[in-house]
Amino acid sequence: MSLSGTGLKKRIVEMIRLDGPMPVSLYMLTCLHDPRDGYYATRPGFNADFTTAPETSQVFGELLGLWAAHEWIKLGSPRKFWFVELGPGRGAMMADMMRAAASVTGFRDAAQIALVEASPALRQQQKAALAGEAVEHFGGLGDVPPGPALIIANEFLDCLPIRQYVREGNGWRERRVGLDTYTFEDIAFGLGPPAELPANLIPVGDSVEIAPGIETLVELVAQRFRSEAGRALFIDYGPDTQSPGDTLRAYKSGQQVSPLAAPGESDLTADVDFPRLARLAQTQGLAVHGPLAQGYFLTRLGIKERAVSLAKANPARTDEIAAAMQKLVQPDQMGARFKAICLSPTGAEPPPGF
Ligand code: SAH
Repeated sequence: MSLSGTGLKKRIVEMIRLDGPMPVSLYMLTCLHDPRDGYYATRPGFNADFTTAPETSQVFGELLGLWAAHEWIKLGSPRKFWFVELGPGRGAMMADMMRAAASVTGFRDAAQIALVEASPALRQQQKAALAGEAVEHFGGLGDVPPGPALIIANEFLDCLPIRQYVREGNGWRERRVGLDTYTFEDIAFGLGPPAELPANLIPVGDSVEIAPGIETLVELVAQRFRSEAGRALFIDYGPDTQSPGDTLRAYKSGQQVSPLAAPGESDLTADVDFPRLARLAQTQGLAVHGPLAQGYFLTRLGIKERAVSLAKANPARTDEIAAAMQKLVQPDQMGARFKAICLSPTGAEPPPGF
């Protein structure tokens, strides 16, 4: 029987034959970041598969730029600071933030743009989108040198690899990707031996998932803010009152597809566990602002006023600007499912929007 599917699927089947079933996290990591066939590594035109807020409207990045300028002033307008974006995609948000924040005297000269990006192809796109700005790329937040930092990430946490656990009887088993037991030629989900649930995980229901990378990231932020001033703002999707169950999803050409169907050719994502993120941050001694629905956050930052003035300057685009704004704030679109959360050293006033 011949093996159908992509080159990456064939390699994953080989990996499983050699090493046994893999945790969902390793599957996700391979699909997204494999240097030869990974989704982010090879598909820089990913907005055909899904559209993010900065790709929906320039107003999103502009508001966040003004937010950053406000917080820079709150930090005492340091002469130099790291303006960090995690997972900048095609670079649109940083370009919009810089354009808007440049209206605040001194901000542009103080901002040292640090882009944390894994994909070489996307690094090139980010450089092109930010031509005229001095940008530095880093592999991880831990590599960004000391100094005050404003850290911003949109739709970054949702692509950190997750591990999944399923309740069986009184115990838990980890969900894994193995070979399907009919042909042993294709991949299928299965369960591993009985396993302990990771610490800091409060399960709701019979399936639960966890992104270990979020804990590492919160620790890095906390470590940094013990000696340096700063804020870390994350915007992403996920429930705000309970831990997500099984939310692994794949998107290809705007459609949801099976996460196993086309490894490396579809975006893989999972809901962010905001309650856990907040708990981890508090345990690390950080102040936590939010999580708050994106619709409220953007409305409080003045999205309506900004959209009106943008439409005045571009009357022919009025309908398009209004539709994009609705998409970002309406609860039945992105307004409620997406949340904003901000971590800061303790004692900091709530930032704008919170
Ligand atoms: N923020 C952008 C793109 C979101 S897609 C937007 O809102 O449009 C996720 C981004 O994170 C991509 O740029 C991807 O390559 C990057 N990324 C994902 N995991 C990463 C990791 N572990 N380290 C660095 N970058 C990562």
